Amino acid sequence: MKPVIVVHGGAWAIPDKIAEDSIRGVKNAILEGFKILENGGSALDAVERAVRSMEDNPVFDAGHGAVLNANGEVELDAVIMDGKTLAAGAVSSIRNISNPVTFARSVMEKTDHVMLTDRGANQYADSQGIPKVATDELITEDERKEWEHYQKYTDSVKTLFNSQLVHDTVGAVALDCNGNVACATSTGGIRNKMVGRVGDTPIIGSGGYADNHIGAVSCTGHGESIMKVTLARLILFHMEQGKSPEQATDEALRYMAERVNGAGGAIVISPDGNWAARFTTERMAWASIKEDTLSYGLNPKEMFNEKTFRIAS
Ligand code: ASP
Repeated sequence: MKPVIVVHGGAWAIPDKIAEDSIRGVKNAILEGFKILENGGSALDAVERAVRSMEDNPVFDAGHGAVLNANGEVELDAVIMDGKTLAAGAVSSIRNISNPVTFARSVMEKTDHVMLTDRGANQYADSQGIPKVATDELITEDERKEWEHYQKYTDSVKTLFNSQLVHDTVGAVALDCNGNVACATSTGGIRNKMVGRVGDTPIIGSGGYADNHIGAVSCTGHGESIMKVTLARLILFHMEQGKSPEQATDEALRYMAERVNGAGGAIVISPDGNWAARFTTERMAWASIKEDTLSYGLNPKEMFNEKTFRIAS
């Protein structure tokens, strides 16, 4: 089985001033994830690695660089899922951990639960010696300014088709050489969200899903809309009915637009290595590697291809 990986850096109206950095960020992330696959590593390790790379990159709304809630605080959500066993781990409302995706993996592998939140999550992090950072370390100067500026636009969470104020959630899906798929998604959510608001990202079947029998999905966009249609699972439902990843994603995004007036995007992979990166927002930064081709894009219907090389171990 030839490994394949796809990543996204969020579906929204990405402004020109961060367009190049967003493309660079998804390309770096995909190379890090692909290196693991190319050396025979698992899809799970690859998606975690790719998402960590984007959590550490302040251009994206995840980990370092996350958007702020109504109180001007960071609250992070993340999910990871293993398509072989359907094991899943998620965390929500995390304030002082730089790589929530790794924390979610620890919940998946070391507890009997699927999701931990807020106080309990913090207690668990302490018990596992997961490194904490001061919350302020995750907040960028740019985000503080944007947050202050947008204080007057309190409709960011209410305006369902307004993707201006949604930010760059990150995600990855991968297929490894053993035929296993996995997904991971991580976010700071939507700017000005209520304190305690949990979006689609950590909700299994909404922000992501992975099943070796069907494929893997990571979603981004207006979380309240995504949850109402369980977007990740809806895409996989269409694939179970025989649709390609691209057709299934377009169909599910169309349904979300018509039914709840929501915009978003998704990256998808099937067990036979077909993939899609589709969105209904103005832009979505994404990248994929299949065989020797690295593809990427930002605008609708855009796809640039570069020949890759064997990445040395
Ligand atoms: N889906 C995320 C949320 O609603 C935001 C995003 O994807 O940009 O929390």
